[in-house]
Amino acid sequence: MKKGVQWVVEDKKKKQIFWPSEEMKKIAYVNDESFYEEAKKDPIKFWENRAKEGLTWFKEWDTAYESKPPYFKWFVGGKINVSYNCLDRHLKDKKDKVAIHWEPENTEEEARKITYGQLHEQVCKFANALKKLGVKKGDRVAVYLPMIPEVQITLLACARIGAIHGVVFSAFSGESLKDRVENSEAKLIITCDGYTRRGKVIELKKQSDIAASSPSIEHVVIVKREGNEIATTEGKDVWYHEIVENEPAECEPEQMDANDVLFLLYSSGTTGKPKGIIHDTAGYLTQAYWTTKLDFDLHDDDVFWCTADIGWVTGHTYGCYGPLSVGATMVEYEGGPDYPDWGRFWSIVEKFGITVFYTAPTAIRMFKKMGDEWITKHDVSSIRILGTVGEPIDVEAWMWYFNTVGQGRCPVIDTWWQTETGGTLINALPGIGPFIPTVAGRPFPGGTADIYDDRGHPVSGEDTGYLVFKPPFVPGLLRGLWNNEKKFIDTYWSEYGKETYFTADGARWFDDQNIRVTGRVDDVMKVAGHRLSSAEIEDAITSHQDVIESAVVPKPDDIRGQVPIAFVVLKAGVESSEGKEKEIIGQVRKEIGPTAKPHKVYLVKGLPKTRSGKIMRRFLRSMLVNDKLGDATTLQNPEIVDYLKEVVGYKE
Ligand code: AMP
Repeated sequence: MKKGVQWVVEDKKKKQIFWPSEEMKKIAYVNDESFYEEAKKDPIKFWENRAKEGLTWFKEWDTAYESKPPYFKWFVGGKINVSYNCLDRHLKDKKDKVAIHWEPENTEEEARKITYGQLHEQVCKFANALKKLGVKKGDRVAVYLPMIPEVQITLLACARIGAIHGVVFSAFSGESLKDRVENSEAKLIITCDGYTRRGKVIELKKQSDIAASSPSIEHVVIVKREGNEIATTEGKDVWYHEIVENEPAECEPEQMDANDVLFLLYSSGTTGKPKGIIHDTAGYLTQAYWTTKLDFDLHDDDVFWCTADIGWVTGHTYGCYGPLSVGATMVEYEGGPDYPDWGRFWSIVEKFGITVFYTAPTAIRMFKKMGDEWITKHDVSSIRILGTVGEPIDVEAWMWYFNTVGQGRCPVIDTWWQTETGGTLINALPGIGPFIPTVAGRPFPGGTADIYDDRGHPVSGEDTGYLVFKPPFVPGLLRGLWNNEKKFIDTYWSEYGKETYFTADGARWFDDQNIRVTGRVDDVMKVAGHRLSSAEIEDAITSHQDVIESAVVPKPDDIRGQVPIAFVVLKAGVESSEGKEKEIIGQVRKEIGPTAKPHKVYLVKGLPKTRSGKIMRRFLRSMLVNDKLGDATTLQNPEIVDYLKEVVGYKE
């Protein structure tokens, strides 16, 4: 079933364009324009229909959409619970269906299979335990866990009782966790003793202790995963298995207001500290449900694997809330793609018969580099749909993904979205197409994308502009930044005013329907699909006692997309040495985590600056790729340019 898809290919603007086969159209939920037309005619009504059709409500809303720019609300007056929608409502006919296939990194250890019935039970038990620890509706819970099923259990348990979760990527440092705990004033941290990554034990509890001393933290819940020795604090630290053991397997879901906060997720912006992006309950879930179902055309017999870590929004929406609200079977993998070898992902595909596979361009480029034999020795023919997200994908990587992983018969769904948008916003649908390398596609029905020039006029033709969204804003869009209204307005609603959401991405039309997103236009980089800002890495570097100032800029990289390069000025009298470079790299690792590590540190005597003292990162960026540098005469210190050119080996 669902195989042998044929593709119609045409060549337009020197790009191959793929269309769905008749067979794919027949299978797909969406195979004509009716959804797009319904959305275009009345986007508010469109989302109302989706919210009614897809979700189960305790009470339906009184007002569908309310707006006071830049604030807006969906489904005002509605009462709903996300955990109920992901669990209870499936119990009638999907109690024994597998919700999560969990694959441990260690190949000697057995996989775990959790049915909807079991997941419901475990979520209820943990929800009850959280209540006993004093966690109430509206309290914040920091989640610092690797990819183990307790992470989905935690998210759903929080949602069940109305606590607001804030996941922090487990590869981030204890200091990063602390920042986020302090900003959100979390009451509780949930972590684990340790876990293995590429066979090496990561002592997560030890890291979490750095944050546990924050004044708001009352308890730390520890999942026993690795069995490594840990230090515990009497009265504060409790074991997960002990606190859930005697709890009842039923817990009444809290009736949440549609616009109550579901979660916070910290993400990098152009300034130092990551910001806590706020997602609400019903709007977020409506978008998570429908984009999961339609983008990946998820049917009851599909097995869905989104490889993203739960630390990123993709892990939240497509590794938890989306597939579970749809009632799908999903796969979760604990470890690295290369452990014990580069065939691991494909052995997982084969083992579980994965039909829909969703990953990031950085992984695709890495697999491409490692050679096809890692794939061809496994049977990956169960896959029928491929997805990609996180950064622009180049033609070669797209074609390789299509031909080698998809064996030339699976649509590649290139989904554009952001932590802020909660769910995908621009992509082709499997039964509609077209699938065009480097072109994400059409706005998801109900989304009102446009591309503006500097002055806020729509661009057309081949011109590049800025990707924006117009009201009514999609239900999944962020509702604010935690404790930082000013930054919320400045970041998203200042460029073009309070009625235009600014994405900070460059884009152009491919034709009059399909959009090509070219990447960030601000000082934010995507390193292996992870969003990092120049400013936060610079902050970590300047916290080193010998550093005066620094500038971090991205440099293109074949595999990781971009890598951070640091230019660092040391204090007078401190000697430049290789050891100092290593210390600086170590500092970033300690402050943020290994993801942010500079690829190269240049110890320099100065940085290019404007007359008002602003660092001109643009010069450094161009220098690294031997691009034209432009006029340096307006700089405060033009002589620095020739010096820096020599340092980096710039060739005109
Ligand atoms: P994050 O919030 O970490 O998901 O990062 C969002 C950013 O990733 C966007 O603003 C884009 O710059 C980039 N991005 C995500 N998906 C795509 C895609 N399919 N094509 C191009 N860029 C993408």
